[in-house]
Amino acid sequence: MKQVRITVAAMTMVAILLGGGCRRAATQEEGFAVMGTYASVVAGGGEGPPVAGDARICEEKMLENDSPLSLFRTDSELCRLDARSGPGPVRAGRHLQANLELALRFGTLTGGAFDVTVGPLVKMWGFSGGQTPAERVSRDRIEEALRRVGYSRIRLQGGEVCLEATNMVVDLGGIAKGYAVDVCCDELRRRGARNFLINLGGNMRCFGRPESTRPWQIGVRNPFQQAQIIGKVDLEDGVAVATSGNYERFVVIEGKRYAHIIDPRTGFPVEGMAGVTVLAATAAEADALSTSLFVLGMKEGVKVVAAITNGAAVFIPDRKPLEVWVVPAITNVFRAGAGIVPQIIVTAH
Ligand code: ADP
Ligand code: MG
Repeated sequence: MKQVRITVAAMTMVAILLGGGCRRAATQEEGFAVMGTYASVVAGGGEGPPVAGDARICEEKMLENDSPLSLFRTDSELCRLDARSGPGPVRAGRHLQANLELALRFGTLTGGAFDVTVGPLVKMWGFSGGQTPAERVSRDRIEEALRRVGYSRIRLQGGEVCLEATNMVVDLGGIAKGYAVDVCCDELRRRGARNFLINLGGNMRCFGRPESTRPWQIGVRNPFQQAQIIGKVDLEDGVAVATSGNYERFVVIEGKRYAHIIDPRTGFPVEGMAGVTVLAATAAEADALSTSLFVLGMKEGVKVVAAITNGAAVFIPDRKPLEVWVVPAITNVFRAGAGIVPQIIVTAH
C-alpha cells in the first residue's frame, strides 16, 4: 500500500539522519491513520521550538479538511454537489472552492489529462468505491461515462459551484491529500514550528531541516522492486513532493492489471508509466502534478512541469530494464543510487 511505501521511504531517510547524528535525537516521527491512508509528522531537531502535539493538530486539520471533500461520506459537500449535478448550484466552502480552483487550473494546463470530473470512469474501473468489473469495460459503457466527464462543465462563481450535466461525479482523489498537507503546514507554521515534514499517503511537504547540518531528504522507490531506492532528493525549505505509481492501487481484470489513474481523454486506465515523482512549491500542486504527468507521459509532461513554480520530475516508464528520466531542474537535488544512470529529458524550445 502506498502509505507503507512512502512512510518507509521517509523513515529510511530519517533513519539515516538519526544514524549520522548521534549527538541527540535529530527527529521525532508520529503517525496516524486518516483519509483512508496513513499520515505522519516528523519534527526536526534543528533550531526553533518544536510544536507540542503537532501530529494531533495535523490529524484534526486533515479530518476537518476531509469531511467536505470526501466521496466516502454521503453528507460531504462533495457528495451533495455530485447529487445536485445538472440542476445545481450548491454553496462551496473554502476548502472545496480552493480544490476546485486548482483542479480547473490543472485541467486547462494539461488539456484535460488532469480532470476531477473523471469520477464516473474511476468508479466504472473499480476505484473510489466502485466494484471491480468482471470483464474489461466495454467501449459503449466508456462512451456513456465520457459524456459526463469534462472539467469545463464545472462552474465556480461567487462561492457557488454547479456541475452542468446530470450524473457527473467529481473525484478529488488526485488533489485533496496534497491540499490537506498544505493546510497542516500553514497551521504548524502559524503555531511557530520551523523544522518539520508532513506526509499524507505519499504527499509530503517539509520546512527547515531535520538538523542544522542536513536538508530533509526522501528516497524515490523502484516501482519494479519496491525495497530498492533508485535515488534520493534533497528538499529545500517549503518544497513539496508527490508520487503517482501503477504498482499499489490497481485492479486485475481478466488477468490484466489496470492502474487507478484514468486517461479522461480515452476513458481507459493509463498504461506506459510505472512511477512519477514530482517537486512543486505546494503539496496541492505536487499532488495534481504527479497525477497529471502520469497521464501525459514524459514528452507532454515536461511542458507542464515547466509551467509550475519550482516544478521538477522524475519519470520511470513501465518497461524493463529500468529507465530513470529526469528534468534538468531536478539534477542539482537528485542523487541517483548505485548503478542508476538517469537520462536527462531535453526539451526543444
Ligand atoms: P494516490 O491517490 O494513490 O495518491 P494520485 O495522487 O495519483 O494517487 O491520485 C489518483 C487518484 O486521482 C485516483 O484514485 C482518482 O481518485 C483520481 N484520478 C484518477 N485519474 C485522474 C485524472 N486523470 N485526473 C484527476 N484525477 C484522477
Ligand atoms: Mg496526485
